[in-house]
Amino acid sequence: MQTIRNYINGQWQAVEATTLPVTNPATAQTIATVPLSPTAQLDVAAQAGQVAFREWRRVPVTERIQYLFKLKFLLEDHLDELARIITNECGKTYGESVGEIRRGIENVEVACGMPILMQGYNNEDIAPGIDEHMIRQPLGVVAAITPFNFPAMIPLWFLPYAVATGNCFILKPSEKVPMTSARLLELIAEAGFPAGVVQLVNGGKDTVDAILDHPLIRVVSFVGSTKVAHYIYSRATANGKRAQCQGGAKNPVVIMPDADMDMTTRIMADSAFGCAGQRCLAASVAITVGAARQTFTEFIADAAVSRKVGYGLDAGVQMGPVISPDSKANIERLIDVGVAEGAQVLVDGRQQQVTGYEDGYFVFPTILDGVNPNGTLAKTEIFGPVLGLMHASTIEEAIQLVNNRSYGNMACIFTSSGAVARQFRYEADAGNIGINIGVAAPMAFFPFSGWNESFFGDLHGQARHGVEFYTQTKVIVERWPQDWSRQF
Ligand code: NAD
Repeated sequence: MQTIRNYINGQWQAVEATTLPVTNPATAQTIATVPLSPTAQLDVAAQAGQVAFREWRRVPVTERIQYLFKLKFLLEDHLDELARIITNECGKTYGESVGEIRRGIENVEVACGMPILMQGYNNEDIAPGIDEHMIRQPLGVVAAITPFNFPAMIPLWFLPYAVATGNCFILKPSEKVPMTSARLLELIAEAGFPAGVVQLVNGGKDTVDAILDHPLIRVVSFVGSTKVAHYIYSRATANGKRAQCQGGAKNPVVIMPDADMDMTTRIMADSAFGCAGQRCLAASVAITVGAARQTFTEFIADAAVSRKVGYGLDAGVQMGPVISPDSKANIERLIDVGVAEGAQVLVDGRQQQVTGYEDGYFVFPTILDGVNPNGTLAKTEIFGPVLGLMHASTIEEAIQLVNNRSYGNMACIFTSSGAVARQFRYEADAGNIGINIGVAAPMAFFPFSGWNESFFGDLHGQARHGVEFYTQTKVIVERWPQDWSRQF
């Protein structure tokens, strides 16, 4: 049993506080305890970050990125160990855990380009003899509050850009999966970052509120559910902070009759049931158009039934448990809601058990046909392995169904028609679009572009957006009168 500690000002610190158990969702066994850090702990971290910032912002960017190069190789060297930690505390399969670490490492790699990424621009002679320059400067102490479903990748959406631009970074990970962050911070310490540049403060709502109210914390990045994203954005910005808050999702996917059905089903099964549906880019509703209905319904039902569910470290397992008993109960409740609204259960993943893991929080792949487009289920994030089916006669009707919701994280289409794909790309009301792709996750060198209720803010995570978010622009207008009488 691991006791999770905070990492503050270059030291690991045990915390005198209430603790919560951390559970392996496949076995229901407690594997660690995590402290709910009091406000005073956060204050110590913020003060230490502010002190560290005075030096860190003066470290040349070419030197700051050397720590990230070291971190990249440490993450590569410890990939297997980190993946096992993720699977044990979060439930996803080993392969999925490796995949998310890779996505995190890619962000470290991109941030290593900071000497170019954070360059400003300039003009000579904006008036005779006067030049103007824009430079980017860091803001100070910044914080990220992250969710349970990608314990390694999501902190790395923010950390590399924040520190490479010269800020000091505080991570408040999800209290459900604190073990990955604890190991990540050990590797960060090993990479040699100076004390106070990267810190870890564990906790729940009170710790988050302390971040949102702390006068030294200038910037807040958040990823989690829409309700909390909205709360955090409102409170952080009311306190004068910069904020980027990524929220929940309900992702529709259109299946055209001209799509390659084998490929489509394979990709869709992975999108809907991969990570047990606990991805903000999981396909949640499939909208078949015309003749796609019959074939896709048959194929996807087969794929759902044949998916191997179990403990993510066991060989051959394709899908793990959901994160908690509450989550399992909520998913099963929402399936009931869908049925009450007129949907038929084609494949039922409720009340199933995995042999050897009878206490685990498993929901098997579930397919609901004929989901009411105006019902609760069609608009509510389930965050579990449940795919709803709707049917349309035309692409126009399908696009209307796609846009009939408040979220805007992702929308996808499967088709072999370029014209239809273009129409979809143009009209779909979502910030991440997939064309013959089931999980349209932007690479580290593109912004993670959620829209509507899936994102509150202006600048998204990753890449150039991250650089802009973690820097403030300074414009210098400069005149140096020449003494023409001086002879050189
Ligand atoms: P969550 O909102 O419950 O928790 C996220 C973080 O907020 C955690 O660190 C938690 O401690 C903190 N928190 C929770 N309740 C709070 C409150 N009332 N006040 C202050 N802080 C609070 O989310 P989760 O269950 O950990 O993660 C799943 C959600 O995250 C899903 O909705 C999913 O769609 C979303 N998500 C979105 C993206 C994206 O890019 N848009 C990516 C991953 C996950």
